[in-house]
Amino acid sequence: MNTAVPLIDPVSPASSAEQSAEAVAASLSARERVETNKLAKRLRRDVGQAIGDFNMISAGDKVMVCLSGGKDSYAMLDILLHMREHAPIDFEIVAVNLDQKQPGFPADVLPNYLKSIGVPYHIETQDTYSIVKRVVPEGKTTCGLCSRLRRGILYRVADELGATRIALGHHRDDILQTLFLNMFFGSKLKAMPPKLVSDDGKHVVIRPLAYCREDDLEAWAEHKQFPIIPCNLCGSQENLQRQNIKAMLHDWDKRFPGRIKNLFRSLGNIVPSHLMDHDLHDFKNIEATGIPDPEGDTAFDAPEFPKEPTAVEWI
Ligand code: SF4
Repeated sequence: MNTAVPLIDPVSPASSAEQSAEAVAASLSARERVETNKLAKRLRRDVGQAIGDFNMISAGDKVMVCLSGGKDSYAMLDILLHMREHAPIDFEIVAVNLDQKQPGFPADVLPNYLKSIGVPYHIETQDTYSIVKRVVPEGKTTCGLCSRLRRGILYRVADELGATRIALGHHRDDILQTLFLNMFFGSKLKAMPPKLVSDDGKHVVIRPLAYCREDDLEAWAEHKQFPIIPCNLCGSQENLQRQNIKAMLHDWDKRFPGRIKNLFRSLGNIVPSHLMDHDLHDFKNIEATGIPDPEGDTAFDAPEFPKEPTAVEWI
C-alpha cells in the first residue's frame, strides 16, 4: 500500500460504541425493540441485495467508505461494518472524510467517532472551500465546482490507500430525485448508477445504499445517535429544485402507496424499443420480418396497469 496518506488504524478497537449501543437498546421499550430490529434487518437486507445484484464487493476488496458526517454515510459505514462481520467473504473497510475547510466544520467529530468504533480511517484536509469561493462569482451555484474538486481528491486518496472500491452514500430517494431532475431540467432519462467506473477509468464507485429508503436511514441515524455534522456549513442553499422533487415524491408516496417502489423498479426494467433513443434502438431500419414474435408486437397494448388508473392518479 502506498503510505503517502496517513491512515489511522486503531490497534485495539474501543468498545465505547458497542457500550453506548447497548445503553440505547436497554432504554427501548419492547415494542420499540421489535421495530428497531425490523428496521435493522430491512436496511441490511436492502444493502446486501444491492451488493449482490450489482456484484459491488468481492473477496479481497478494500472499500473506501466516503464519510461526510451526514446520516446516510454514517449509516452506510455502520451497515457495511456489520456485513463485513457476517459476510461469507473477506473484505477491508477504510473510512475517509474530506475536510474541505468549511467554516465551523467540527474537525474532531469524525475522528473521535471512528476511533470509538475502531475503524481504520483517513482524514484528507484540502481547502476546496476557499478555491470555490474565489473562483465562483457571488450568487452563482458553487456545487458543480465543489463536487468536481471533491471527486478528484477522493480518487487520488483511493489510489494512495490502495482502495479497490469507493463507496458513496446515495440512497433510493437520491436516485429517484436525480432521475426527475434530469428529466425535468436536462431532457434526459438518466438517474444515478449503483455501480460505475470513475471518469479516470481507474476506480469502481459503488452505492451500497441504492435500495435503501431515506426515511429508514433517518430512523437508523436517530436510533444509533450518530454525531451528525450539519450539511450547510458551506453556506450554499440546498438545491431548490431537488427539494421540490423530494416533496413531490414524498406526496406521491403518501397518496399512492407502491408508486415510488414501482418507479424505482422501472429503472431496472427498461424497454428500449418503446422509448425514442436512436442509439439504443435502430428505429430507422425497422422492417417487417414475416416471423411472428409472441413477445414483440405490443404496439396496441394498453400500459401494464394492474387496474385502470383514475384521473386523479395521474397527477
Ligand atoms: S452544498 Fe456546499 S459542500 Fe455540498 S457540493 Fe455544494 S458547495 Fe460543496
